[in-house]
Amino acid sequence: MKYNEALNKGQDILVNNGIKDGKTDAFLLISHVTKKDRTFFYTHGDSEELNTGDEEEYLSLIKKRVSHIPLQLLTGKADFMGLEFLVSDKVLIPRIDTEFLVEEALIDINDGADVLDMCTGSGCILLSIMKYKNDINGVGADISDHALELAGKNAENLGISNARFVHSDLFTEIQEKYDFILCNPPYIRSGEIDGLMEEVRLHEPHAALDGGEDGLFFYRKIAEGAKEHLVYGGALILEIGYDQGEDVSRILKEEGYGHIRVLKDYSGNERVVKCLKS
Ligand code: GLN
Repeated sequence: MKYNEALNKGQDILVNNGIKDGKTDAFLLISHVTKKDRTFFYTHGDSEELNTGDEEEYLSLIKKRVSHIPLQLLTGKADFMGLEFLVSDKVLIPRIDTEFLVEEALIDINDGADVLDMCTGSGCILLSIMKYKNDINGVGADISDHALELAGKNAENLGISNARFVHSDLFTEIQEKYDFILCNPPYIRSGEIDGLMEEVRLHEPHAALDGGEDGLFFYRKIAEGAKEHLVYGGALILEIGYDQGEDVSRILKEEGYGHIRVLKDYSGNERVVKCLKS
């Protein structure tokens, strides 16, 4: 089968099985297997034959994608902030929503700052900050050893040698004070997890999604714990669900934070809350 025939075949299978973005996904899968880019498909896709091994591997990935396994778990990697991160089914796949958190944090964070990323998962938030700023003293904390191992590999792949990853149940093992604490905690209401798309519900770790009955469990814990670990005037920057701005602001106010601001992302959804320890 020629490259373009295989590509079209995979695209038809995904689209006919109702996979949203099936056309793009098929391209990303064939490109992952064959290591060929768009230009190759335009210039040689109609003339060159795909070897049988690659064809089989690609079609088996297409079949898996039909069963709603997320694309990033099939390729083992995700793009985030223009960087490549390894992912697995034990960490939340980096989302475009979280790029907004990082962009907002990058506005405030100065070179040389001490930064803690709580619930670091793949490490995507911390490592992006460290990549795009200079001399950051960066620590990522997570309760999952698997996440910490993956985050460590991501640091290595990105050439970041000074990131530290710490096993900690929220702040239990954190000793130092930081200029910035960032966090994308689990924030989905427990009762809403069953309604999420299959990719998320069946293939992503619920521990990284489930924010308890009202979705706010971790915000309460983090608002309380971060106070002890921010320098005076230090900033706490949190990702939130689109309908949580008011509740999270109230929690932060009750804990004594100042300058609380809820920021909307490019889709117009409330997505980030910033505040200062005052
Ligand atoms: N935004 C994520 C989702 O919709 C949830 C991420 C989280 O709980 N931190 O799946």
